[in-house]
Amino acid sequence: MHGDTRPGRPQGPFALSRRRFLATTVGGLGITATLSPVTGALPASGPVPSAPPRPALLGGQPVRQAAFPGWPEWDDRDEQAVTGVVRSGRWFRGNGRKVEEFEQAYARLVGAKYCVATANGTSALLASLGGMEIGPGDEVLLPPYTFVATLNVILDHYALPVFVDSDLETFQIDATKVEAAITDRTAAMIPVHLGGGTADLDTILEVGQRRKIRVIEDACQSHLAEWRHRRVGTLGDTGCFSFQASKNLNSGEGGAILTNDPELAVRCYAWHNNGRARHVQGYDFRYQGGRAANLRLTEFQGALLLSQMERLEAQSRTRETNAAHLTRLLNEIPGIHPARMLPGCTRNAWHLYMFRYDPAAFAGLTRERFLDALRAEGIPASPGYSPLNREAFIQATLNSRGYRRIYPADLLDQWADRNACPENEKLCRTAVWFTQNMLLGEPSDMDQIATAIRKIQHHAGALQA
Ligand SMILES: *Cc1c(COP(=O)(O)O)cnc(C)c1O
Repeated sequence: MHGDTRPGRPQGPFALSRRRFLATTVGGLGITATLSPVTGALPASGPVPSAPPRPALLGGQPVRQAAFPGWPEWDDRDEQAVTGVVRSGRWFRGNGRKVEEFEQAYARLVGAKYCVATANGTSALLASLGGMEIGPGDEVLLPPYTFVATLNVILDHYALPVFVDSDLETFQIDATKVEAAITDRTAAMIPVHLGGGTADLDTILEVGQRRKIRVIEDACQSHLAEWRHRRVGTLGDTGCFSFQASKNLNSGEGGAILTNDPELAVRCYAWHNNGRARHVQGYDFRYQGGRAANLRLTEFQGALLLSQMERLEAQSRTRETNAAHLTRLLNEIPGIHPARMLPGCTRNAWHLYMFRYDPAAFAGLTRERFLDALRAEGIPASPGYSPLNREAFIQATLNSRGYRRIYPADLLDQWADRNACPENEKLCRTAVWFTQNMLLGEPSDMDQIATAIRKIQHHAGALQA
């Protein structure tokens, strides 16, 4: 643990106050490497801070040598859970009980009536759209700042994706722009609760109800996140989760659909089970026919999820504590803008820690060079998503035989103009991400992240390639 636990105080030998930091760097842009940080606004009393040592990228010592906590975490309980399934010889949900048990436990945990476990998050989204009978001719709204799966499932159903621009401050879909994107073809929207935060569900659900448009919450990054004290994934028509290896609840691959609608529960189940209904008691409605697939979770995964789920609350609390500490530290650094949480977001799942980087506060140092410098200091960081709405494969898909047969030519030809997302372009150029496992250690890990960023800022001029 670190020594000084006062919140909001930058730690370490070069934890300058914000004002003094500005006086020592911004004033000397370009020559910060040779300029002593003690010139300028040093108070008359107090210890003289030493200059930040040389950046690791220029041959100095990295701020951090140790690895961040690994992911996933497991112990004997997880091993026994999986071995138990192996030894039972019941590896499939049709003859075992683990998937069923997990569905009940996950529905209870998150607060929904029904749960359908699926092979992964993509298939949860796919089966949600399938269960709603969304298909050719339908438009489906989504944000451009998301994982490609949110888009792929729309294309898989030969529906037309329509992007709604991002909000720069929160990184979430700009809910104020949803209504303007609706046409008489709009059948559903897939708001994404990105990074563990939440989209503006007040606006989205109100528009959905008033305009009679289905809402599929993509909560693949937001296990246990809350909107006004209710867990996300339970407020839309369906909520979709991923248990893929990187996610906050993990069985290598895995997914789930939550819903409170008994008919949708039956339809989604049938969609994921080759059109066949549940064999156990509970749902009395049997859906026959329709398009479907096999997207079932295995018993190994069901058992592993049951045991991994026992850690979820404690891990989530640790991430929350560390993220709050990191936000206090980063808010003190000019040019670093942590993603703001919407006021209605009462709990963030912190799948990602995201902020915007402003090169102007770093002597014009590019984001790519900043990321390289950060990684060299022992802090892994990612630039995040690139603009999904401009991916070339979308145009190729819209030009495909199937799409050309379904949609009027002018609708497809004007698609790119209609789907420009200027705010998202800015977001994609400036975002920086840390992954959830980096928040699973000690507050002193957060201090090191802030220290590394301050060090880079101090030497920004010298770091220009
Ligand atoms: C991970 C993820 C998915 C897809 O989940 P898989 O389990 O990888 O198929 C969908 N949407 C978002 C936002 C995700 O992060």
